[in-house]
Amino acid sequence: MVHIAVPKETAPGERRVALTPEVVARLVKEGCAVRLEAGAGASAFFTDEAYREAGAEVVPAEAVLEGAQVVLTVGPLEASALPHVSHEAILIGFQYPHRDPKRVEALADWGISTLAMELIPRITRAQSMDALSSQATVAGYRAALIAAQLSSRFFPMLTTAAGTIRPARLMVMGVGVAGLQAIATAKRLGANVWAYDVRKAAAEQALSLGAKVIELPISAEGEGGYARELTPEEQAIQLEALARQVGQMDVVITTAQIPGRKAPVLVTAEMAGRMAPGSVIVDLAAESGGNCELTRPGETVEVGGVRVAGPLNLPSELPVHASEMYAKNLYNLCKLLLKNGELAPDWSDEILAGALLTHRHEITHGPTKSLVGA
Ligand code: NAD
Repeated sequence: MVHIAVPKETAPGERRVALTPEVVARLVKEGCAVRLEAGAGASAFFTDEAYREAGAEVVPAEAVLEGAQVVLTVGPLEASALPHVSHEAILIGFQYPHRDPKRVEALADWGISTLAMELIPRITRAQSMDALSSQATVAGYRAALIAAQLSSRFFPMLTTAAGTIRPARLMVMGVGVAGLQAIATAKRLGANVWAYDVRKAAAEQALSLGAKVIELPISAEGEGGYARELTPEEQAIQLEALARQVGQMDVVITTAQIPGRKAPVLVTAEMAGRMAPGSVIVDLAAESGGNCELTRPGETVEVGGVRVAGPLNLPSELPVHASEMYAKNLYNLCKLLLKNGELAPDWSDEILAGALLTHRHEITHGPTKSLVGA
């Protein structure tokens, strides 16, 4: 029998929970024992009672980590909790190693194995475990709604006795998982949608959702389906070409990211200044430096009549479905760790090896190891 623990999330404002009652029931069926901290699901509207009915043991904070072989979280487990975790345990959740390398050092020192959800390889076999994608889906949807909420104009075209309203002109820059969901949501709300990305594959996907694609003579396909960083020359061409387009938009949603780097600037303050007063920019890259020069992480500012939102942790704003999707990602990853009801991880498996951050007193992720060394 494998003992799984789910502590309550500690990050301020975090409303998600690692397991839902439905996934607890599945794990129990697989022969696992699940122990959950009382109230862990409350902010995602999952009651202790629902977890108990699903077969979990609901315990006070001080007892949740005791004897756990697997600890499941959404965000990083605080280093102060480590003395309560067995040295042999496996910790699984988002780890954000670059934000707090000292914490990763502490995990390695303690000897536990840590799997970082954001490091799971984006390969076909790992799609059902891909929490970056599941949570980006939530963020993209939410971004379009925030834009609609902040907009001083309707999104859809309306023909009324009081006149005809033209649809909002909306551009999504960065058409990965979040961007595609923002396009789909904005289309459903009736906006006239344009899309821009540096990857050709992204353009095809945007077209299939009914967006018009802005094409520039820059192609920046990087490794593993990601974009590479643009050269300063390419960046200058990009900004010059986009400036006119941005100026014609009522709404811009940006989601551009480059793994392990600061987000690229796609909307300068000058470009934002070209937008009509009452326009909106929603910057999903606020957490990693922002795609818009005016973005302030976690705030909505108004500059020259243009509202610029830099929301943080959007998945947490839709905690029921974000937790449901995340819990399924964890369940599929847990199944990879189990064999005949026992914990039997094959650390050479491509998915586990890719996601492994610390193992047997070592930091096993190269870039984090360098960061800690530096
Ligand atoms: P991401 O969050 O890393 O970046 C978002 C988007 O920003 C990307 O489309 C990227 O091309 C774009 N971007 C970066 N720099 C830019 C710039 N200067 N200008 C304009 N756009 C820029 O991306 P993501 O959503 O994590 O998806 C990355 C890739 O992974 C996609 O190709 C996606 O289809 C792929 N993917 C594969 C799987 C799988 O096979 N398991 C799962 C999920 C995603």
